[in-house]
Amino acid sequence: MTIRYLPVSLFPGAPSWRWCQVMLALLPLLLFPKLALAAQVDNVRLWAAPDHARLVFDLSGHAEADVFILDGPRRLVIDLDDSGLNTELSALNLDGSAITAVRSGVRDGNGLRVVLELSREVEPRHFTLPPNDQYGHRLVVDMEYPGESAVENPIDPIEAMIREQEIIANRGRSEGAESAPRVDAESAVASQPAAPHPRRDIIIAIDPGHGGEDPGAIGPGGTREKDVVMEISRRLQRLVDGAEGFRAVMIRDGDYYIGLRQRTRIAREQKADFFVSIHADAFNSPRPNGSSVYALSQRGATSETAQWLAASENQADLIGGVDGNLSLNDKDEVLRGVLLDLTMTATLNDSLAIGGQVLDQLGRVNRLHRSRVEQAGFMVLKSPDIPSLLIETGFISNPEEERRLREGGHQQKLAESIFAGLSEHFRRNPPPASLLAWQRDNQRSPAGDEYRIQPGDTLSGIASHHGVPVGRLKQANELNGDVIRVGQVLRIPRS
Ligand SMILES: [Zn+2]
Repeated sequence: MTIRYLPVSLFPGAPSWRWCQVMLALLPLLLFPKLALAAQVDNVRLWAAPDHARLVFDLSGHAEADVFILDGPRRLVIDLDDSGLNTELSALNLDGSAITAVRSGVRDGNGLRVVLELSREVEPRHFTLPPNDQYGHRLVVDMEYPGESAVENPIDPIEAMIREQEIIANRGRSEGAESAPRVDAESAVASQPAAPHPRRDIIIAIDPGHGGEDPGAIGPGGTREKDVVMEISRRLQRLVDGAEGFRAVMIRDGDYYIGLRQRTRIAREQKADFFVSIHADAFNSPRPNGSSVYALSQRGATSETAQWLAASENQADLIGGVDGNLSLNDKDEVLRGVLLDLTMTATLNDSLAIGGQVLDQLGRVNRLHRSRVEQAGFMVLKSPDIPSLLIETGFISNPEEERRLREGGHQQKLAESIFAGLSEHFRRNPPPASLLAWQRDNQRSPAGDEYRIQPGDTLSGIASHHGVPVGRLKQANELNGDVIRVGQVLRIPRS
C-alpha cells in the first residue's frame, strides 16, 4: 500500500472503501504496537524441588527465548523476542526456590526481559512446548542445582548388584574363617568378634504420583490427583516412620514434578527395600470405581532387562575401572544377563507377594476394581532389584469416590491398609541386615529359646504356643512326667 491511496480511501463512499476498511483494521496496530507482538506472557508458574526449580511461562503464541547467566550479583536472564508481559510477576511465590527476586523490562523496543536474582549457582536449560489439552504455548526454564541432583552419579543397577553380591561373598569368607579359627597370627584379623548386627530400618520409598505442572487426573469436582495422592502418601509416611524397624523416604516431597526414571533412581540412591507409587485412577466414564494394585508386567520386565543390559554395556567402559576392584568388563556377559534375569524375576515375585497382601488389606476398606494384582509396564515399576507397586487408590473420575478420596478418614484407611499389607510381608520376610530380621533370629537363638513357667501353664499349652510337639519339649528338658512348677525354665527346641 502506498500513501497515495490514503486521502481517497478516507472519504465515505469513495471508490476504494475497501482500502479504508483495511486501514481501520490496521489502526489499532499503529496505535498499540504491543498487540502486534508474537506472544504475550499470560501467566508464570514456578515449581520448587529440592534439586531444581522449574519456571513455566504460559504464552499466547510461540516465542523464541534466550536464557543466560550473569554474575555479580548472580542472576538468570530470560529474553523473549517479540513479547510482552500480561501478568504480575510479583505474585509469584518464590518459597523454596533459588530465586530471590524477579524483575522485568522491555528490551530492544519489543522484546521482554525477565531477570531472576539467584541465591545459588544454577545450571539453566530451556525449551518450548506446543499447546496441549490443558495449556497453550509454553516456555519452560529449568534451573538444576549442581551438587543437589539425585542423578548426579547415576549408578548402573547391575554394577550395584554385583558390588552387593561381592560384599556378601567377602563377608561370608571372613565369617567362614571365624568359625574354624586357626591359632597362628595371620588369623588374628579373621577371628575378631563378628561385627554387630546392623539392625537397620527397612526403607519404604513412597512416591506420590505426578506433581508440579502435571496435576494427574482431575475429578468432576475439580479434585487434582497430585493433591490427594500427596495427602495419602503423607499419611503412609507417618505410619511407616511410626513403626519400629521401618523408615519412610518420600520420592516427591512437595508440589513439583520428578521424571519417572528419576523416581526409581532416588529410590535406589536411598537404598529402598520397597517402592510404592500412589495414584488415583480416571476413566472417561463416571461409573468405574475401586482400588487396584499393579506390579510390573513380565513383558515389561523382560524388555527392561534387555534395556538395562544394553545401557550398562554402553556404560561399562566408563564404570569399569572406577574402583579398581570392580570391573564390569571381566564379568561374563551371559552371566550378567542371567544374574539380571534372576534378580528381576525374584523382584517381580516379591512385588506380586507384597501386592497380594496390600490388595487383601485394601479390600477391607474399599471396593476393589480388580481382585488380583494387575501387571503393566509402568516406568516407575522398572527397578530391577527393588520390589515395586503402583496403587490406584480409587477412581477420581467417579463423583462418589472423588468425594471419599478427599476425606481425611478415608485417606487414613487407605494408608493404613497399604502399610498393613507391606509390613505383613516384611515381618514374614525381613531383609537379613534389618532390625526385624535380628528380632526374629534372636527369638530363635538358644538364649531366647527359653520359657519361664507361669501360674496356670500346662505342658501341652506351652508346647502348642511354641509350635513344638509335647514329646520333643519333654525330651529337650529331660522331663519324665507331666509335672511342671511355676518359675521353672524350660528349653524350647527349634521346631
Ligand atoms: Zn496417576
